[in-house]
Amino acid sequence: MEIPYIKLEDIDKVKDALAEGGVSPGVCGPRVRTVTACQGSAICPSGCIDTSALARELSERYFGRELPHKFKFGVTGCVNNCLKAEENDFGVKGGLIVSFNPEKCTRCRVCTKACRQGALSLSEEEKITKQDSLCNNCGRCVKSCPAEAWTGEPGYIVSFGGLFGNRIFRGENLIPIIRDKETLLRVADATINYFAANAKPGERFRSTLERLGIDDFKKRVTEAYNG
Ligand code: SF4
Ligand code: SF4
Ligand code: SF4
Repeated sequence: MEIPYIKLEDIDKVKDALAEGGVSPGVCGPRVRTVTACQGSAICPSGCIDTSALARELSERYFGRELPHKFKFGVTGCVNNCLKAEENDFGVKGGLIVSFNPEKCTRCRVCTKACRQGALSLSEEEKITKQDSLCNNCGRCVKSCPAEAWTGEPGYIVSFGGLFGNRIFRGENLIPIIRDKETLLRVADATINYFAANAKPGERFRSTLERLGIDDFKKRVTEAYNG
């Protein structure tokens, strides 16, 4: 939300009035920008993670931190990707790590139709099979199965080094889906620290990765991922 035409001498009064309503100003320039998120699981039936809670936590940890250039976090609740996670320097997308209990399955085939990735099929022996390489953690099998034969653990799919401005680049997934918040924050710390230590002033994260090559950064985030 933007409030235009505030006189410079009135800035502090406006800030005070906003603070009374629990609103703080955003930032621009070379630092961590306002963390953005979609509605997530608290509101949206497709959501796999609580995006608002995570965005608040990331904001408390990183918002306004001084860096060589701007740095954006974006959190989207599922693979529908309404918040466009890969446009951000550090994008988080909710997903479900799914498990199957054959004893509960009634072979109704609902999940095989619900899976848009073609990862599920019913074999001639009437067994559900899943091709892990095709699964994108959308969780549609869990949400559609009437017999609760599919269950899912929430996870975070992270993308690094996205851009969506003068230049467009889709952030890359360099590590597997993350299963817990502690690991996610370790990976975020490693990313921010790498950018702070290696970027030239005025250089976006994507350009740093291209100048130095992705291998060293991938090694650092993989170490953070593994704890
Ligand atoms: S990304 Fe998923 S959780 Fe977020 S608003 Fe879109 S459909 Fe809902
Ligand atoms: S939707 Fe559930 S019950 Fe139906 S085939 Fe799939 S796993 Fe089995
Ligand atoms: S999580 Fe999504 S892609 Fe994976 S098996 Fe279930 S429906 Fe298919």
